[in-house]
Amino acid sequence: MEKRPFAELGVSQEILKAVHKLGYEEASPIQTAVIPAVLQGRDVVGQSATGSGKTAAFAIPAIEICKAQVHKVQVLILCPTRELAVQVAEETGKLLFFKRGLNVVPIYGGQSYDRQFRALASGVQIVIGTPGRVMDHMERGTLKLDGLRMVVLDEADRMLDMGFRDDIERILSAVPAERQLLFFSATMPKVIKDLIGRYSHDPAWIRVESHAQNAPQVDQVYYEVDRRSKLEVITRLIDINDFRYGLIFCSTKVMVDELDQQLHARGYATDRLHGDLSQAQRTRVMEKFRKRAFEFLVATDVAARGLDVDDLEVVFNFDLPNDAEDYTHRIGRTARAGKSGKAITFVSGRELYRLQSMVRFANLKIRRETVPSLGQVDEARANLFYEKIRGVIDEGKFEKQDRVVDRLLDQGYSSTDICSALIQLLKGGGAAAPAPAAKTSPPEARPRMEGPEQGQDSPETAEDEGEAPRPLGRTGKEEGMTTLFVNAGRKNLVTTGEIVGKITGVTRLDSSVVGAIDIHQRHSLVDVTAEHAELILKKLSGIRLRGHVLKLSLATTEDKARE
Ligand code: ADP
Ligand code: MG
Repeated sequence: MEKRPFAELGVSQEILKAVHKLGYEEASPIQTAVIPAVLQGRDVVGQSATGSGKTAAFAIPAIEICKAQVHKVQVLILCPTRELAVQVAEETGKLLFFKRGLNVVPIYGGQSYDRQFRALASGVQIVIGTPGRVMDHMERGTLKLDGLRMVVLDEADRMLDMGFRDDIERILSAVPAERQLLFFSATMPKVIKDLIGRYSHDPAWIRVESHAQNAPQVDQVYYEVDRRSKLEVITRLIDINDFRYGLIFCSTKVMVDELDQQLHARGYATDRLHGDLSQAQRTRVMEKFRKRAFEFLVATDVAARGLDVDDLEVVFNFDLPNDAEDYTHRIGRTARAGKSGKAITFVSGRELYRLQSMVRFANLKIRRETVPSLGQVDEARANLFYEKIRGVIDEGKFEKQDRVVDRLLDQGYSSTDICSALIQLLKGGGAAAPAPAAKTSPPEARPRMEGPEQGQDSPETAEDEGEAPRPLGRTGKEEGMTTLFVNAGRKNLVTTGEIVGKITGVTRLDSSVVGAIDIHQRHSLVDVTAEHAELILKKLSGIRLRGHVLKLSLATTEDKARE
């Protein structure tokens, strides 16, 4: 199906400005087809794959039909979950950015009624909510729909799956007859066709085939892995590819919890999502994941449905999904909106047959790969470091080393050897200090700080000099080091090795960035190189250490005096 520039779809200047600001270069196929049809006043039934841009397909014409000077609800958008309602409201908010006087509000269960009353009473034009809460407000009389001109059902099939049928029917029968009705659904079971038949007027059926659009962008591979080796293999694959942002699917909640813990213990920044978590917890996790506050989200299919994230580098099927539909649904989460991504599937034992039948059924293009050996992982790690070094050199700071590297390569040294040697040199030339020993390594063994004196890099140092009421060991005293306050200590069974492990695991920095560590009863003071302090603070905050959620801050003088 074709794509066209937004400018050819008959939308306003304000919308053109907004999509430009969002960085959308052209309308996706579903948008190209849906937007003009809705603007002509037609009812629409839209069907397309996850990630094909359905939200803007209905939100743009919804915004266009709203009259800013009328302070009544003119568009009602129903979504299956609170997360989706919030996401759709966010995207709609961005799209109406340049439309003065237009407002949007999400309403959903779990949020205080008070806030929602106030929002609804303020004259918003677009309301986005879950069917249950919308019904609620209609019955209380706090959501008046006499000015309604459009109803949108997003993910209609899921709303029915979730038992919202009665609510939806009551809402549809209560709204004015003169309104447009848009249905969006990934599948078209009979119940939905019934609803469409009863409530729509001669709808335009718009279906965008998914295979041609989405699947080829995703590089799909599978590994035959023994059940017990899966953990080892996934960490190797993460390391060798240097993945930093991905989704890992497991088939059960128990597996999700287990894998989340195991990856955490190995220093990966992970979190989890499944049906046993409270709504508030789930919202928080998704929010953090979207902000990239951690690297890998371990989830079940159900929990991850409707999760809208961009730029995933990889989707892992740690467990094989049940069927081809779940499979395509899962991998559709990478390579969104035309970007390329990778889908990696583990199969063990007889699962191979199931995978083969999926491949036939859905015509998947998936190839087999063999598990990388430990040697290959080491090699990849070394190369990564080499690239980093080269990056620094290319910026012009280390030209001489560039030549040295070239010369060494010419002389036939392996890149692993050269990298190791360079790491050693960068550390100051002495024997490399292993992680826990970093505490006692001499100051010369650190990368030398250039430019301003230590005081500017480390705000605490000045205060340290005279004011510290008790000896602080070497915390913050070394040149170029900053002291971080960590809210976990002996009580939490934290060890220095673990702290170093977390820092290097989560940031992928070398252990030499960590200096002295003082572990107290309930907190720890950790010295890190000033230039990395902010990154470490950001990356470690919120991750779990022995089940304890870490909070980090720059240590103050009082922190340093705490017992
Ligand atoms: P769907 O509802 O079909 O699953 P979404 O509406 O959630 O898909 O869109 C998926 C992603 O694609 C979102 O991050 C969205 O911002 C982005 N997107 C939507 N339309 C475009 C476009 N025309 N160009 C680029 N990206 C787009
Ligand atoms: Mg959607």
